[in-house]
Amino acid sequence: MEKIDAIYCDFDGTITKKDAVNTFFEMYAPPKWLDSEQLWIEGKISSRENAVIQVGLLPEITEAQLNEYIENIEIDEYFLDFIKYIKSKNIKFTILSDGFDLFIYKTLQRLNIDGINVFANHLVHKNNKFNIEFPYYNSSCDVGAGMCKCSRVTEKKFCYIGDGTSDLCIARKANILFATKNLQKYCNENAINHIPFNSFRNIIEVLEEGKII
Ligand SMILES: [Mg+2]
Ligand SMILES: [Zn+2]
Repeated sequence: MEKIDAIYCDFDGTITKKDAVNTFFEMYAPPKWLDSEQLWIEGKISSRENAVIQVGLLPEITEAQLNEYIENIEIDEYFLDFIKYIKSKNIKFTILSDGFDLFIYKTLQRLNIDGINVFANHLVHKNNKFNIEFPYYNSSCDVGAGMCKCSRVTEKKFCYIGDGTSDLCIARKANILFATKNLQKYCNENAINHIPFNSFRNIIEVLEEGKII
């Protein structure tokens, strides 16, 4: 297999076992958050518009409640091994997420992982209230993402790892694509070349065997 210059990776449902944003809304937002989710699934609003509506529905939540939630986000059992492996190979690794930066930074901190680039939507939590900002929005994004993944890639040859809808704009462009869950299904239905995976253990094995990095 061809060598690549960088690895880009989704966060929710890829590094985490469940989508940490959706699980958060399930726990704290009124059921109306699902109406907005449905409009987004039907393509009537963009993922950015959806995020603004859903974050706007959140009730007041204390710092302690928020931290407790984030501390309990479940991570793929082999993600730390994966990080060790790619650090030993000195390959650039970047997390690209259409979710919340706060969840990602605090999770990486808990896992004692540093030196990783993160691009995500900026969740502001102040006086128990929430707000969302989109520092990496790109108005020409194919899928209207809050954080456009494809416009962040700078290398010619890169690998992408993902699980769902927020990955569609970048999945077709990757030289090597690891796909799980909905993204895997989408790739199968649309004849997009990909390597299926269940955990980061599979990814380490493929990278090692193929001498890709
Ligand atoms: Mg995802
Ligand atoms: Zn995009």
